[in-house]
Amino acid sequence: MMRLPLFEFRAPRTLQEASRILDGERTNAMPLAGGTDLLPNMKRRQQVPRTLMSLRHIQPLNDVELTLSGSRLGACLTLSDIAADPRFRNGLTALAQAASLVATPQIRNMATLGGNICTTIKATSGESRSISA
Ligand SMILES: Cc1cc2nc3c(=O)[nH]c(=O)nc-3n(C[C@H](O)[C@H](O)[C@H](O)COP(=O)(O)OP(=O)(O)OC[C@H]3O[C@@H](n4cnc5c(N)ncnc54)[C@H](O)[C@@H]3O)c2cc1C
Repeated sequence: MMRLPLFEFRAPRTLQEASRILDGERTNAMPLAGGTDLLPNMKRRQQVPRTLMSLRHIQPLNDVELTLSGSRLGACLTLSDIAADPRFRNGLTALAQAASLVATPQIRNMATLGGNICTTIKATSGESRSISA
């Protein structure tokens, strides 16, 4: 069984605190959301950040704002959150349907909207070095 390498764990509660950690640690720190992509990569030593910074306790990243002029979905909403929320069936049907079709229920319960976007960006153009809110 492959084990995770040693790492320092940080769990900021605000975006400001998270930004300070990333500024201070530079390329040594990585944001951790659901971990469905990052943790297996760490086990395979494809990514070995010195510090993992959990985003799950930053409330704005879990919020949803739906207005007539536009919608704001927090980056830490899970794909299950999006697939199950009845508010997304009115006007954001395609997003809810897409979220419901990704991988398996276990993965969807952990994987986040932000992580999905970041892994797609990384796959096409390299690493992300900021927090997607
Ligand atoms: C078995 C399996 C099947 C899959 N099938 C599909 C599929 O059918 N379709 C599909 O689209 N995807 C698929 N995926 C990919 C899956 O959607 C992603 O692994 C998942 O969305 C990543 O989200 P996460 O929250 O777990 O990210 P993590 O693993 O926590 O992070 C992934 C990367 O994004 C960065 N990151 C995460 N959140 C943020 C943020 N808010 N700001 C900045 N950086 C951030 C992390 O630092 C890391 O580099 C599959 C994955 C697995 C394991």
